[in-house]
Amino acid sequence: NSCGLIVSFGEMLIDFVPTVSGVSLSEAPGFLKAPGGAPANVAIAVARLGGRSAFVGKLGDDEFGHMLVSILKENGVISDGILYDPGARTALAFVTLKADGDREFMFYRNPSADMLLTEAELNVELISKAKIFHYGSISLITEPCRSAHLRAMEIAKEGGALLSYDPNLRLPLWPSPDEARKQIMSIWGKADLIKVSDNELEFLTNQEVSDEAALSLWHPGLKLLLVTLGEKGCKYYTKNFHGLVDPFSVKTVDTTGAGDAFIGSLLRKIVDNHSIIEDEVRLREALKFANACGAITTTKKGAIPALPTELEGTMKFDV
Ligand code: ADP
Repeated sequence: NSCGLIVSFGEMLIDFVPTVSGVSLSEAPGFLKAPGGAPANVAIAVARLGGRSAFVGKLGDDEFGHMLVSILKENGVISDGILYDPGARTALAFVTLKADGDREFMFYRNPSADMLLTEAELNVELISKAKIFHYGSISLITEPCRSAHLRAMEIAKEGGALLSYDPNLRLPLWPSPDEARKQIMSIWGKADLIKVSDNELEFLTNQEVSDEAALSLWHPGLKLLLVTLGEKGCKYYTKNFHGLVDPFSVKTVDTTGAGDAFIGSLLRKIVDNHSIIEDEVRLREALKFANACGAITTTKKGAIPALPTELEGTMKFDV
């Protein structure tokens, strides 16, 4: 595979999802075990679309950790940057599907293996080969993983990678909303490309979604800011132009993973030619593909099982 390497950094975990909505996990008649964690979903999204993809993070040396590594490998994700912690367990999320379709999470993280990744454990050789380095925020919450995260960003940048950030707010994991906002903004200025959802835009700016609110998040080094709007498509902002890319209309059953499919497919499109970002026509084409991949992901349950393959991504909507 001669594509440029995309390295995704951070957490991977198992979601326990009840088979019915409107009750807590303990009251549900059954549950499913679903692999999750935004950066890992992105790694798999890239690999499914034929890209060269690696995941960097730490898992427990337990049945869940082993299951997650097999899933990454089966999907063609390079696993050389993954370690097993001998003592800690793999992170777990217990999901409640609320009657209104929202999801609530409770986490096993006290601490989970992903939080214990250290700077010294980073696979420097792999990270420095990245053409794009993609990360979230959960790995920033506590040490030692926070320092490992910041160092990995530096290594990737020194190697010439584009830094791609999806804050992927999971508010219950933070000590407080203010702390979340503060930590997210503390690494804001380092990213070349940032993708936020409409809800995250509102949270970070304390404003309703608008071009003005989005542009208040602009920073001088930024090359591309994306705001995903669910069934309304996405907005893009660069130094020179901004606009809306219309969504595809699909029969949605579960939106989990749509944002990860969206950013993963965009990264796949731009990895070998970062300058697509500067050309509005080509950027819109890439975002149309990303919207299609996001839309396809909502037509099936779960995140990873729903991520499209290259053929689905390009054929279904002729993008
Ligand atoms: P996030 O998971 O980050 O909140 P979104 O839910 O906004 O992200 O989804 C990412 C992208 O996937 C959207 O910009 C859109 O293109 C596509 N998408 C999401 N939900 C739908 C939907 N219900 N119908 C069509 N496209 C969708």
